[in-house]
Amino acid sequence: MPMKGRFAPSPTGRMHLGNVYSALLSWLSVRSQGGAWVLRIEDIDPQRSRRSFAEQIEDDLKWLGLDWDEYFIQSERSAIYTHYLNILREKGLTYPCYCTRADIMATQAPHEADGRVVYAGTCRPKNLLQAWSNEASHPSGRKPATRIIVPDEDIHFVDAHYGPQSVNLARHCGDFVLRRADGAWAYQLAVVVDDALMGITEVVRGRDLLLSAPQQIYLYRLFGFEVPTFCHLPLLCNEAGQRLCKRDKSLDLGEIRKSGHSPESVLGQLAYYAGIIDCPEPVSALQLVPEFSWKKVPVEDILVRPDFAAC
Ligand code: GLU
Repeated sequence: MPMKGRFAPSPTGRMHLGNVYSALLSWLSVRSQGGAWVLRIEDIDPQRSRRSFAEQIEDDLKWLGLDWDEYFIQSERSAIYTHYLNILREKGLTYPCYCTRADIMATQAPHEADGRVVYAGTCRPKNLLQAWSNEASHPSGRKPATRIIVPDEDIHFVDAHYGPQSVNLARHCGDFVLRRADGAWAYQLAVVVDDALMGITEVVRGRDLLLSAPQQIYLYRLFGFEVPTFCHLPLLCNEAGQRLCKRDKSLDLGEIRKSGHSPESVLGQLAYYAGIIDCPEPVSALQLVPEFSWKKVPVEDILVRPDFAAC
């Protein structure tokens, strides 16, 4: 299969430097190997996604010189996700879940303090093949979410950057959601179906998603898809040691562009953080291609100065 990478932003706000860092490293990996780069707008959450943010992301990538070869929008792919969800349903691997968020929180063990939600299996039926027979007449009158059963066994994989990993899905997350009760597609299903059908061979993204990979590998195996290489990246952090997010206003690309930075100065700084160049001098995306090597990229998280926009 030809080498192919992708950048898959959720258009729920302006890109911050952490998103740009992931996009840049995925793009450099692809361009340095003569591969193709896919831009996929992950707008499956109708409450949080905005077309205007997607347009802004596209404009930001063009401004940076990160060009793509293929373009997809997840909200146009619902029929494809339905097809793949039905495959799992016909195999007797999914069931309807009527739990509210409050129900789920009430069954949480107190030690899951990292925000991770482990579903206790409250709605998992004894006979999975009849799981959907009472769907229309549930006493709650609510519409169900769709969950997939997970095995109580370790999933092993080797991340190209963080090395061997092993996760037991039953303990890590429990049966997880593939489609929400409001009909919105869950990230795990959409990302696997898309990466597989688009022929993605290398998934590059922040290490906050490292432990999503085993959920995805489980789905890849159920569908009989080939698993791509996963290459997770260190996170860009603010001075408090927290991962950059939308709250770090001064480090979003909107502010940085407004403050007069050139694309070359942003790329030079990020390439320096990534260990690709030795000093943070302005440089174009194309000039970085021959310099790129995964061996140079650190595994430790990277502190970003709050005055980035001003420097
Ligand atoms: N859409 C996800 C996000 O913006 C990224 C998905 C991925 O790279 O797998 O966090």
